[in-house]
Amino acid sequence: MFIRLKPQKFVTKSGHSKLIPVPGVVNSNVLNMNKPLLKFTPSSIYCPAADIHIDPWKPVDRAIITHAHSDHAKFGCKHYLAHKDSESILRLRLGEDISLQTVEYGEEFSINGVKFSLHPAGHIIGSAQIRVEHKDEVWVASGDYKLQDDGFAAPFEPVKCNAFITESTFGLPIYKWPAQADIMNDISEWWRQNRMTGKASILMGYSLGKMQRLIKNLQPFDGAVFAHGATFNLNERLRAVGHDLPFIPLITKDTDRKLFRGALILAPGSVLNTSWIKKFEPYSTGYCSGWMAVRGAKNRKAIDRGFVLSDHADWNDLESAIAETGAQKVYVTHGYTDTYARWLNEKGIEAAEVKTMYGQEEEAAEEEIIAES
Ligand SMILES: [Zn+2]
Ligand SMILES: [Zn+2]
Repeated sequence: MFIRLKPQKFVTKSGHSKLIPVPGVVNSNVLNMNKPLLKFTPSSIYCPAADIHIDPWKPVDRAIITHAHSDHAKFGCKHYLAHKDSESILRLRLGEDISLQTVEYGEEFSINGVKFSLHPAGHIIGSAQIRVEHKDEVWVASGDYKLQDDGFAAPFEPVKCNAFITESTFGLPIYKWPAQADIMNDISEWWRQNRMTGKASILMGYSLGKMQRLIKNLQPFDGAVFAHGATFNLNERLRAVGHDLPFIPLITKDTDRKLFRGALILAPGSVLNTSWIKKFEPYSTGYCSGWMAVRGAKNRKAIDRGFVLSDHADWNDLESAIAETGAQKVYVTHGYTDTYARWLNEKGIEAAEVKTMYGQEEEAAEEEIIAES
């Protein structure tokens, strides 16, 4: 293993031992920008003192992965470290035999004297903010995050730091999420209406995160539910390692089409405008994404209903998450990076836009799929 894990007990400088690092108050103005604790390289967010990369988009020797979405967890690294709930999906996507070490939330480990711990990001199952501490300086790389509790991923926890690396996928004031329960009611009502008219309800969203969130929150189901292969595989993978999800049957070419009448069909957005979708006729289509906040369904031929459901922070939540970190410096990695960084600067929070390869997959990239439909 590439990292020597310190066991749960970590002896602090004061000699006290603590079980879980309480992400408490940090000293202000200790940022050493001549030798930054984390820096942005052409391949990753890199910690020179520990010689380790966070979410590299090019193969490296040692990578800490915030979460299993494919723009953050790239193939080809020698060694990986991630939260234990990311393991099953990382192995599915990157290979069963990858060298992977897992940790719990709050478990401290050190590399070359740099302290690391992972904290819930609330984005998808296993998603983590990476806390990095060295010489009284704390940085947090948050990956993707949301503040709404989705009932499946561990809820977001604010972590105090001197420097915070944030996404800004929905970093414009037009993005404000309705309550999750309201959206779930809307979906249930749409499904009910379709059942009454004998239509299948094809509910789309990305497979890792959005689908499990829907499954958790739409239960108990009011009718039959079936899954596209992409949804089915992830679901079964998570169920196999003990996550509390119901079995949802896979749609195959042999599935009796009569069963689709009035059923809920869970599928990724990539099925739009494909022949796969025809077997459900008559049907209605619904799409779950943060992008639905601004794009009216009327402009799209292939989507009947848009549901505003996102696994990223909205405008207000970005602001409160950033404020709670107490960070003196904020780096904005993906989404509306330039406008969001400028807005933070105007508010007196020193911020900079950073070019990364994040946001190329999953919900951050869905805007294109939806726009084309
Ligand atoms: Zn993500
Ligand atoms: Zn992302």
